[in-house]
Amino acid sequence: MAYAGSRTMNVGTWLLPEDEGAFDLALHDTFPDAGWQCSQPGPLGLHPLHLHCSLANAMACGSRGVQAFLHLPIGASLPSTVTLADGVPLPDGPPIAAIMQLLRSTRRHDPGGTYCDHDARYRHPEGGPYFDAGRLATRWFVDEVGDSTHQVLLRQTRAVRSALTATTRPARIKDQNGRRLTGYRIGPAAQAMVETRGILLGRAGLQRFQLG
Ligand SMILES: [Zn+2]
Repeated sequence: MAYAGSRTMNVGTWLLPEDEGAFDLALHDTFPDAGWQCSQPGPLGLHPLHLHCSLANAMACGSRGVQAFLHLPIGASLPSTVTLADGVPLPDGPPIAAIMQLLRSTRRHDPGGTYCDHDARYRHPEGGPYFDAGRLATRWFVDEVGDSTHQVLLRQTRAVRSALTATTRPARIKDQNGRRLTGYRIGPAAQAMVETRGILLGRAGLQRFQLG
């Protein structure tokens, strides 16, 4: 949440991998050198982290794609904990000032939100499936980064958000009582999947939503 001195962007998303790919292509139109850092299970340092050339590659690395990270400013130098994936040029920008997270949307099952994506052996129970929101989010502190970096982060964050806006649509959704929830984005492939299967949409908590 926003508090004194912090800048926050947090957009709830429902995206399938195809939607993530479209977003990443739009992002690369603006920032050709944008790389994505993969995420690995376990404590920091247990598995190597890489900078990948695409969001799809970063999501595919490791056991299962849960999230990937964009270093800001885009083209920031690599921290010592991250190595380059094959074929990715070494970024030579300033140090990382902020990190943007793309948390992947996941198919889950009630009760309890059992995770069921990306596991071929998972046996889907009857009923209760929903598509849990991911997010595109970042935060930084103006005092920590300084004004000139702050301006760069603002500009780049807006540009990344524009790439998301260009490749998704506002999610027109309502809860069981007909109340609308606004501010979320949904990709065309995700929307088609939700419409075809009649699957509910979820976010943190027990509320479920449907399109309409
Ligand atoms: Zn990796």
